Amino acid sequence: MEKINLSRKDFLRNSSLGLAGLTLVPGMLHAKSQSAKTAQNEDETLLSQIKSKSFKLKNVRLETGFEYENDEVIGTKTELFTIDIADGKIKKISANQTDINAIDAKGLLMLPSFKDMHIHLDKTLYADRWRAVRRSGGIKGMIELEQRTLRNMLKNSTYKAEKLIELLQSFGTGFARSHVNIEPTSKMDSLKNLEIALENKKDSFGAELVAFPQHGLYYTDSLPYMKEAAKMNVDFIGGLDPSTVDGSIGKTIDTTVQLALDYNKGIDIHLHESGESGFKTIEYLIEKVNENHFLKGKTFVSHAFALGTLEKDKQEEIAEKLAAAQVGIISTIPFGGLIMPIPILLKHGVKVMTGNDSIIDYWSTMGTGSVLQKANLAAQLYGQVTEFGLSRMLKLATAGPIPLDDKGVQQWPKAGDDADIVLIDAGCSAEAVSRMSPVHSLIYKGSIVY
Ligand SMILES: [Zn+2]
Repeated sequence: MEKINLSRKDFLRNSSLGLAGLTLVPGMLHAKSQSAKTAQNEDETLLSQIKSKSFKLKNVRLETGFEYENDEVIGTKTELFTIDIADGKIKKISANQTDINAIDAKGLLMLPSFKDMHIHLDKTLYADRWRAVRRSGGIKGMIELEQRTLRNMLKNSTYKAEKLIELLQSFGTGFARSHVNIEPTSKMDSLKNLEIALENKKDSFGAELVAFPQHGLYYTDSLPYMKEAAKMNVDFIGGLDPSTVDGSIGKTIDTTVQLALDYNKGIDIHLHESGESGFKTIEYLIEKVNENHFLKGKTFVSHAFALGTLEKDKQEEIAEKLAAAQVGIISTIPFGGLIMPIPILLKHGVKVMTGNDSIIDYWSTMGTGSVLQKANLAAQLYGQVTEFGLSRMLKLATAGPIPLDDKGVQQWPKAGDDADIVLIDAGCSAEAVSRMSPVHSLIYKGSIVY
């Protein structure tokens, strides 16, 4: 018999999303034994509530505080609750009622759904063919490779984007910030194809878009296309290694900033350049944001590898400047040759977010699709292995909200919060991060995705 909480594997097998694909068997929503007729009536009522996105969840586990021994957090307290969901919001959180006609969460932990804040949904090879990464020719070699391959990749890019979104959803991600190639090869087509995919998924997945001049704003003549994209449904102006690719920091960043100001957008640039030019680009961007307060809180540097190559006192200094200008850093949590100073950034209050970037494409083939895995990697890399440390790392997967604040006071969920949630097979956030626990259910704006 099919259960209402489809497992991730079931979900992947049966990628027709939502309840459309769900067959109702009388009594399937009920643990209690009762007459088949009553059970069927109650199931029908529940199903119509689910369809109208106004329903209750019972036996939902929420974190209520930390357990201490002296000053050390040694555990997380939880209790079961009943949650009312309506109009895309969490309407009410109340004492658990076991005997009501509601969806039974069976003690699963409720967490904010996850956000992938750096991905390229528009140019994936996921659900297509295997191709290993090629590295000859550096970034300009990669640009040349894309110029040869992108038109062909665009032929089924809507389909691949939808499949990739389903992969993210299967790991509990309900929202992504996707970069979209805007350059003379793709023109507006990568954007248009992705917009169709996002439209098809709009009831179960949210996204914001970054117009990304992947082939260099000036290295290829991308500016006219970027202007066209800025008039469309994008949220951020992107960029790529101004010094290495375009040969100038000032000219490229000035244009990027001007585009953002002219079209009322944020900024999110790719900056792989390490060393001097990378560092100078970050400083220059901070300067521009300080001159244009509109950009505060809306400006991000993705990767920002240069920060990983600085001396510690320099890292502290730039972290302070980033925090003051409200410029965020988006990191895929690299490990190996370069370690990003994420704990220092967080200590100074810099907004740090993560994403998969590539799942499988010409740039990388190692993406899992899980941002909970990124939180786990960060916990390992930065030694955040205690109950407290692990629970803090969850904010990388959710791009912000976590159940308990640093003092152990419950801060999520609150009535009125968006009903963007996952039900996960874990006893607490720390366990979820450490064990990369399986997600059993994703709810997006009050819609049950699975
Ligand atoms: Zn990227």
